[in-house]
Amino acid sequence: MPFGNTHNKFKLNYKPEEEYPDLSKHNNHMAKVLTLDLYKKLRDKETPSGFTLDDVIQTGVDNPGHPFIMTVGCVAGDEESYEVFKELFDPIISDRHGGYKPTDKHKTDLNHENLKGGDDLDPNYVLSSRVRTGRSIKGYTLPPHCSRGERRAVEKLSVEGERPHPVHCWSHPALLPTTPSCVPIALNSLTGEFKGKYYPLKSMTEKEQQQLIDDHFLFDKPVSPLLLASGMARDWPDARGIWHNDNKSFLVWVNEEDHLRVISMEKGGNMKEVFRRFCVGLQKIEEIFKKAGHPFMWNQHLGYVLTCPSNLGTGLRGGVHVKLAHLSKHPKFEEILTRLRLQKRGTGGVDTAAVGSVFDVSNADRLGSSEVEQVQLVVDGVKLMVEMEKKLEKGQSIDDMIPAQK
Ligand code: ADP
Ligand code: MG
Repeated sequence: MPFGNTHNKFKLNYKPEEEYPDLSKHNNHMAKVLTLDLYKKLRDKETPSGFTLDDVIQTGVDNPGHPFIMTVGCVAGDEESYEVFKELFDPIISDRHGGYKPTDKHKTDLNHENLKGGDDLDPNYVLSSRVRTGRSIKGYTLPPHCSRGERRAVEKLSVEGERPHPVHCWSHPALLPTTPSCVPIALNSLTGEFKGKYYPLKSMTEKEQQQLIDDHFLFDKPVSPLLLASGMARDWPDARGIWHNDNKSFLVWVNEEDHLRVISMEKGGNMKEVFRRFCVGLQKIEEIFKKAGHPFMWNQHLGYVLTCPSNLGTGLRGGVHVKLAHLSKHPKFEEILTRLRLQKRGTGGVDTAAVGSVFDVSNADRLGSSEVEQVQLVVDGVKLMVEMEKKLEKGQSIDDMIPAQK
């Protein structure tokens, strides 16, 4: 599995037909959209940082399909990728996000008080609750494309708030500031319930790392072919790590699939509290970065700009690990999930199938609706599914409980 990306200018010596990837066995969104004509049109374009069409699509070429989810089959290498390769991304975004149009506007709502209910999911069924999102720091290229220096700068900036080198200025000494810019505020400056510490992957023992993975706090090792083929795992584990508060209920992953992944989680079914901590902590972090002159990538159309087009918008995945021994065997299980706009995974992450009767159930949408609306779907949907499960346990029918399409 390739660890690198595909920069090679000699490829333009070959005809587009000779370079066009064989997508005949593929089932991902990119493969559906990328015709030879489109490949011809876009293949010699690049973003200002040098991300090309072949870099965008490599992960989808190397991974024809995924056993459990329909993947998008492409990634962004920088903020500009979505603009320069618009003709590829726009139809993919529309396919993946329920017809979202290039003229549509996204909405953000991180006011946790707008969520209704969510503090009463039955902990006998809902084992844990979690909300995560990604954030990208403006001015740096994204993980599939970033250099070692950039990646280390993102880590340093996130943890200590220091900026070792000015962005984009390495080749223009005239642009260097006369005094080094050093802003001593970042994750390490958070206080109260958010006070925490950064643990770089490099200084963890294998055992410590595995324990954090097993406890669902840390991203998996870079074993996923999706991650590897996109180039995101280059230089692993350099400049990767996890920051978390003292009781591991608020966590930030640094330099995995996105510059930052912000996570709030706890055992049991109090999604309301998990979402409160998520919104409050996330907004504190955003404020810190803004003050330091490093806003997050965001625009009105795409919302928060992230590496994977599937995460555009809110970047939010709010989910629970929920025990559904009976409902998961019901012939309408898949249909119920679809109608509630929910998706399921195995509890070991995106590359795992469900083992036994515990599922990771989360919102399917990211773009076009707000954070509050998406978590509301999870709260209401999971509540209904747990009620169904209880009925099935007693041998009763759930036919009159099947929801309408949301
Ligand atoms: P994401 O990319 O949304 O962060 P993944 O499917 O890659 O999610 O999983 C990352 C890790 O988070 C895995 O260890 C997974 O078990 C854990 N996780 C996801 N949802 C929950 C949850 N509701 N409760 C506990 N752990 C969770
Ligand atoms: Mg993941």
